[in-house]
Amino acid sequence: MIINGKLQSEKLRKKIKNEILSLKRKTKKTPKLSVILIGNYLPSQIYVRNKEKMAKEVGMKSEIIRYHSNIPEKTIISKIIQLNKNKNISGILVQLPLPKHIKKENIINTIDPKKDVDGFNPINVGNLASGYNAIVPCTPLGCLKLIKSVKKNLSGKHAVIIGRSNLNGKPMTQLLLKENCTVTIVHSKTKNLKTQCSQADILIAAVGVPKLVKKDWVKRGSIIIDVGINKVKDKIVGDVDFKMVVKKARAITPVPGGVGPMTIACLLNNTLECFKAR
Ligand code: NAP
Repeated sequence: MIINGKLQSEKLRKKIKNEILSLKRKTKKTPKLSVILIGNYLPSQIYVRNKEKMAKEVGMKSEIIRYHSNIPEKTIISKIIQLNKNKNISGILVQLPLPKHIKKENIINTIDPKKDVDGFNPINVGNLASGYNAIVPCTPLGCLKLIKSVKKNLSGKHAVIIGRSNLNGKPMTQLLLKENCTVTIVHSKTKNLKTQCSQADILIAAVGVPKLVKKDWVKRGSIIIDVGINKVKDKIVGDVDFKMVVKKARAITPVPGGVGPMTIACLLNNTLECFKAR
């Protein structure tokens, strides 16, 4: 089974759209997402444009605040403080990566945790790790929704996550622990990577190495989630050798069309949740 991320994303966005409509009727208010974009890194420009387009499609207000790449850090900090105070703004996102002179942690720490739609603020990271209510980073949240579209009860399953980034691997670990999975997290220094992966009922690859996961790395009947986005020649490929692994997996996400579309849908979901919480 190929997990259709586009379809799952459409379903989630439709649900968000209906909820925004009904909230609008009741409260006369609409959620609004503010995105800060610094510099002209092309992938960020494309990503931010897609976020804005999809926000409009679900009836959400959105704005992109653009700065040139040599803007001082303090200008961004002041802008975030202003957005934190603005009652009309439900969610704030600063598009990463940032120019070298701007410290990522200073930016992330300034965003009000209640408006932190990316879920990167340490308050949200800590709440997630403690099993409390938290805003969850969009990609891992999307991955969990995709896994659950195939299997609802994950209790007792062995999940192996390749990659330990703050963006993907670590929050994915917390989400799967909450689902009562037994979680193994592996990375570039792990020995016997192939053996570790071959024991997974659920294998999540968030690495950034094209087609790293081969057919003999996966257990027959497992669920495979490929987070990787790698440009090879003119094609986008994942971290999993899809053509070979698909023959062995119970379910697998393709790249493109798997995790990617869910990430933006989960961003809209987080923005709506922030709006409702306020
Ligand atoms: P990252 O911060 O570079 O982390 C990569 C992780 O993979 C690190 O933990 C690293 O180990 C590990 N790793 C690297 N090479 C390895 C190897 N040969 N064997 C085992 N582990 C290895 O990357 P990221 O931000 O998590 O992103 C991972 C991938 O997901 C990228 O392709 C990115 O473009 C993609 N991505 C996709 C979406 C989406 O919406 N689909 C969103 C975000 C990111 P160490 O910690 O030891 O260095």
